[in-house]
Amino acid sequence: KTILVTGASGFMGTHIVEEFLSAGYIVRGTVRSEEAALKVRRTFPDQESRLDLTIVPDMAQAHAFDEAVKDVHGVVHNASPFHTQVQSNERELLRPSIDGTTNILSAVQAHAPDVKRVVLTSSFAAMVDMSLGNRPGHVYSEKDWNPITYQQAKKALTPPVLAYTAAKTGAEHAAWDFMQASYPHFDLVTILPAMVYGPNRNATANLASLNTSSADLYRIMSPESKPDDPVPPNVLYSWVDVRDVAFAHRRAFEVPEAGGNRFFLCEGNFTNQQVADILRDKLPELRSRVPVGTPGSGFEGVDMYKIDHSRSEKVLGVKYHSLEQTVVDSAKAFLQLEQRM
Ligand code: NDP
Repeated sequence: KTILVTGASGFMGTHIVEEFLSAGYIVRGTVRSEEAALKVRRTFPDQESRLDLTIVPDMAQAHAFDEAVKDVHGVVHNASPFHTQVQSNERELLRPSIDGTTNILSAVQAHAPDVKRVVLTSSFAAMVDMSLGNRPGHVYSEKDWNPITYQQAKKALTPPVLAYTAAKTGAEHAAWDFMQASYPHFDLVTILPAMVYGPNRNATANLASLNTSSADLYRIMSPESKPDDPVPPNVLYSWVDVRDVAFAHRRAFEVPEAGGNRFFLCEGNFTNQQVADILRDKLPELRSRVPVGTPGSGFEGVDMYKIDHSRSEKVLGVKYHSLEQTVVDSAKAFLQLEQRM
């Protein structure tokens, strides 16, 4: 079977491509340029016969995916802008995320009769209500929707990080609305990962321009930081390993009962102090650059929401990596990238 994976050049996209290839599928990946296609080929040098790359320069354009979806059996729509340095929330975050999603669903409906299911990478961003802060006593699950609106997000003064959450929320709403309005020949599953960490497998990744979540982790072991620096504050307290997210995307395509559902992917909550403790303990060579902070203090003084990830375990069979394993594997991959530079 052939699976279309959009955003094949990304941090998560690389793992999703690898997950489907390892399971025996043929993968067609979309990228935005020939240069990006070359980079993806360098990450998978032995897969020429089973990995085909196709260029979709602007997924926000109507009919952008009409050619890419032809003859595939399943679709994983993972491409979406995830950065916080933008000039226009609407043009750079909201439109590509929302229009990219409706364009791929329309393309599948019109041109891909063999597709039984579309898996959409949504996000915890589409669940979390940022205005309620740490929300002590609440348990986040698939029932939650971020209440942020498009109108709020497009305002010039709205911070891009909030606009990003609105872009993911808007895209997921648009997808479920499409399903309700169009009764297509396929069903939909959405995957909602928390902050995604884990080893970077992209052979041409650059430490100076890491994807947003990897950069968040790397700053705790940055070559510029020192043991007596403060531990950087958490951006988000909920996390998941990229390998578990990739596995969940494949299972979301394969498991019949998954159809029509959202799946929250999150191992649990963590603090950057815990990450610093793991790095200093398990990788002594990093002690000269990882802040000490207050070792062992973990969640002291932070009262926050809990998470319920039971649906992903029950239906998709996800077995979550531990924070220690993820942090150690991520750090080793960063060190390899440093050596390559
Ligand atoms: P990356 O930035 O590494 O990957 C994003 C991918 O989307 C890249 O392939 C990128 O292509 C593509 N893309 C970005 N903007 C556009 C656009 N306007 N048109 C077409 N393609 C575009 O980030 P991640 O791998 O982390 O993110 C992948 C997905 O996972 C996104 O949907 C993101 O919202 C979601 N997600 C990520 C989380 C995380 O913590 N990392 C958490 C929850 C959800 P190019 O290489 O050309 O830039």
